[in-house]
Amino acid sequence: MRALIGGGTGFVGRHLTKALQEKGYKVTKVSRKTGPDTITWKDINKNGIPDDVTAVVNLAGANILNPLKRWNQAYKDEVVSSRVETTKTLANAIVSSKIPPKVFATISGVAIYKPNPTLQYTEDSDVEPYDFLSQLVVDWEQAAKLPESHSCRQVTVRSGVVLGRDGGMIQQLYFPFYLGLGGTIGLRGDQWLPWIHVSDLAGIFMHAINNDNVRGILNGTAESATNADFTKAFAGALCRPAIFPTPGFVMNIVFGSDRAKVILEGQNVKPQKTLESGYQYKYFDVKSACKNCVS
Ligand code: NDP
Repeated sequence: MRALIGGGTGFVGRHLTKALQEKGYKVTKVSRKTGPDTITWKDINKNGIPDDVTAVVNLAGANILNPLKRWNQAYKDEVVSSRVETTKTLANAIVSSKIPPKVFATISGVAIYKPNPTLQYTEDSDVEPYDFLSQLVVDWEQAAKLPESHSCRQVTVRSGVVLGRDGGMIQQLYFPFYLGLGGTIGLRGDQWLPWIHVSDLAGIFMHAINNDNVRGILNGTAESATNADFTKAFAGALCRPAIFPTPGFVMNIVFGSDRAKVILEGQNVKPQKTLESGYQYKYFDVKSACKNCVS
């Protein structure tokens, strides 16, 4: 069994690679750079998907919350093309493939749901693009679509903020919180923070790859939590106080309002189909997830 993972070099990709290898899969990454067990996007365009691949996954995407990148048109274009074009490349290669893989699983984001303090979204909620990031998610999911009659099963995981010690948000927050300088984002921290532990996100992809009955959209989130719930859980896991809120205007200055929204406003996203499909979480509550992230 071989899996091909676009963006397999990243935070989520490394965890999924390990999970796949533990179940006996050989893993080939698709990257912009060459390396061991890696092919490039150009190779895919030129040669298609290797014949022995049974599962194709796309996790590629330039980091939206990279504070070192100015939120200008050039970076916005990169954020879009690194998701939409890579996904299209894999979808086209699957369609052209003589021996198609059994499953095509892609990631997208909960930004497709409009932030709302009271609504709870599920995979069945209606979605309508309302800003740059929600339009991006719509285009990203559209790029993954294979013709309806195609034999390859499709799954898209709409991920919340991914928590894990070795990447994503926790990596950025670890030292400020460790030094006791952490706090809520926004003064009250009452906005939703849809989140998932990286082991569960990799677990949901494994579940999707290995179960023929799993298809369509799955929310990649765990129990609902607010930014304040997360802050309390993470500071508590580190045995530190969390008394220094980061005001919204600071986030707007650092990231620009389009991007700061991801953290300043949030969605309450229930993983209804994920649970109904039989996935069992390792870390469903934010306290146990944060505890794991500091152990
Ligand atoms: P990482 O930034 O760790 O890794 C993403 C990978 O994308 C990189 O390893 C890189 O692979 C590839 N990549 C980066 N920039 C480009 C580019 N310009 N063109 C093509 N490929 C590029 O991300 P994560 O593992 O944290 O996230 C994986 C996916 O999940 C991303 O699509 C992200 O948007 C999505 N997601 C992540 C969340 C999170 O909190 N982490 C939340 C919701 C969604 P290489 O250098 O080998 O080419």
